[in-house]
Amino acid sequence: MNDVGELVRVKLGKTAVVLGGSAAGLCAAGALAPHFDRVLVLERDELPAAAEHRRGVPQSKHPHFLLNSGRRAIAALFPGFEDDLIAAGGLHLMPSMDAAYLDGVGWSARKRSAMTMIYGSRVLIERVLRDKVRALANVTVREGVTVSGLRTRDGGVTGVDLGDEHVDADLVVDAMGRGSAVGGWLVAAGWPEPEVQTLDAKVTYTSRWYELPTPRPASWWWQHLVIMPTPDRAGHPPEHEFLVNFFPIEGNRAIACMGSWGLEMPRTADTFVESANRVRTPLFAAAMARSTPTSEVHLTRSTGNKWRRYDRLRTPPRGLVFVGDSICAFNPFYAQGISSAAGSALLLREHLARTDRLDRGFCARFLAGQSKLLRVPWSLAMARDQGYECAVGTEKPPEWRRRLVAAVSGPAFSFIVGAAREDDVVDEHFAKVFNMDESLGQMLRNPRVIAGFLRHYVRKALGRQRVPFDFDAQAEPPATDYSSATAR
Ligand SMILES: Cc1cc2nc3c(=O)[nH]c(=O)nc-3n(C[C@H](O)[C@H](O)[C@H](O)COP(=O)(O)OP(=O)(O)OC[C@H]3O[C@@H](n4cnc5c(N)ncnc54)[C@H](O)[C@@H]3O)c2cc1C
Repeated sequence: MNDVGELVRVKLGKTAVVLGGSAAGLCAAGALAPHFDRVLVLERDELPAAAEHRRGVPQSKHPHFLLNSGRRAIAALFPGFEDDLIAAGGLHLMPSMDAAYLDGVGWSARKRSAMTMIYGSRVLIERVLRDKVRALANVTVREGVTVSGLRTRDGGVTGVDLGDEHVDADLVVDAMGRGSAVGGWLVAAGWPEPEVQTLDAKVTYTSRWYELPTPRPASWWWQHLVIMPTPDRAGHPPEHEFLVNFFPIEGNRAIACMGSWGLEMPRTADTFVESANRVRTPLFAAAMARSTPTSEVHLTRSTGNKWRRYDRLRTPPRGLVFVGDSICAFNPFYAQGISSAAGSALLLREHLARTDRLDRGFCARFLAGQSKLLRVPWSLAMARDQGYECAVGTEKPPEWRRRLVAAVSGPAFSFIVGAAREDDVVDEHFAKVFNMDESLGQMLRNPRVIAGFLRHYVRKALGRQRVPFDFDAQAEPPATDYSSATAR
C-alpha cells in the first residue's frame, strides 16, 4: 500500500506538475496520481467549492455535451464519476426519446436508440471532477497561482516558474487550454516553433440560462430541443441557419443557445428574444417565454479548430506532455473537447503504466499515440467546417473542394440521421461516431452500414419509410413513440 491506497504501481518520479486545473488538468491529475509521489495542480483561478462559473473558463456559460467516450474515459480515471454526476443533479437521458429534434424540413419521429447521455452544466461536470481529484491523497491543487514559464535543461523540461518561485518536476503536463503560452516558452528556450493546423469556421455561440416552469407544461414530453440549420439555400431569415438548443441542466434549468457559422449573433436580452422568434420553429421562443431568465446573454467567438503539432517536432522536449485544448481545440458544435481531453489523459495513464523511465522516447511515444487519438475528432470537425466559405486557416481547402464539401456535407449528414432513425445498425454506428468511439471513415466503410444506407435510400425513393419523417415544424413535435416501427 502507498499513500494513494490500493493503487500500488512503479513510481516514475517524485513530482508531476499539471498546469491548469480545468477539465483536462483534472483528468491528467487522475492519470498521474498512481505514478508519482505527489501531483501538483497549478491553477490561476480560485476554484469555487460549488458548481459556479470562473474567469478562466468563460465557455462554461454555454451548453456542454459530454460524449460517451469522454464519460467512459473520465469514469475509468475516477470510478463512480457517472453516479456522482447523476447524484449531483445530472440528467441521464436518451436523446432520441427525450429530445425533440428538428432536422431537414420538420420534426423527427421519437424512438429508442443506442445512445444515452448525461446532461448537466459544464460547471457541474467540473465540480464533480474536482471533488474526485480532491479525494486523491497525493494530489494537491494550488489555486490562485499563475504559471509564468518553464525551466529547461539539456533538452528537457525540469520544472515551472510561478513568478519568483519555481517548482521542480519530473513530468510537466500542459493543460492551460486554448491560450496556453507553453509553445512560446519552448521557442524562447530554443525549440523550433511547432506546426499549427487551424481552421476557424467563425462559429459564434450566444446563450442565456433559464429556470423551467413548475410543473412543466403538459405538452413538454421533451427535455431537450434541438433545431438544426435549414437545408434551404436561400429565402429565409438568417436565424434559420442557426443551430439551436434548449439544453437541460441540473436544478430544473435549461440553457437557451443559438450558434452559427459566420453570422452576426444577438448579444442583448432584447435581440436574443427577437432572434429566437425567427428561428425555424416557434417552440424555442415559446419555451423561453414560459421559463424565467436567470442570466444575461453570453456570447463566445473563441471556437476555431487548432492543433499544435508537437508530435511533429524532431526532438520533442523530455519531461513535457500536453492534454486538452492546449494541444488540440475543436469547433464546439461537435462537442469533442472534454472527451478528447479525457481520452488523452487515459492514454497518458496507459503510457505511464507501460514505462519505467520518463525519457525523450516516452514523450515521443505518447505524442504519437495521442495524435492517432486526436485524428478521429479532428477529421470529423474538418468534414463539416471545410465546407464553409467563411472559414479561414491552414486547413481551408481549395475552392473547388470547399464547394464540394459544402454541397455534400449537410445533405449527407441529414441522410445519415434519417437512416439512423429507421435502421438499428446505422443508428448504432452513427452513435459511435458522434461519441468518438469510431471514426467517420470506419463507419462509411462498414458493409453493414452501407447496406443500411441502401435500404434507407430505396425506402425513401419508394416512399415506404418505416418511421414517419418531417412532422410540421410550426406545430408541437409529436410525442408518439415509434420504437416498434423498426423492431425486427
Ligand atoms: C462555446 C463553447 C462550447 C463548448 N461546448 C463543448 C461541448 O459541448 N462538449 C465538450 O466536450 N466541449 C465543449 N467545448 C470545449 C471545452 O470547453 C474545452 O475543450 C475544455 O474546456 C478544455 O479543457 P481544458 O482543461 O483543456 O482547458 P480550459 O477549460 O480552457 O482550462 C484551462 C485552465 O488553465 C488555467 N490557466 C490558464 N493559464 C494559466 C496559467 N498561466 N497559470 C495557471 N493556470 C492557467 C485556466 O484558468 C483554466 O482553468 C466548448 C467550448 C466552447 C468555447
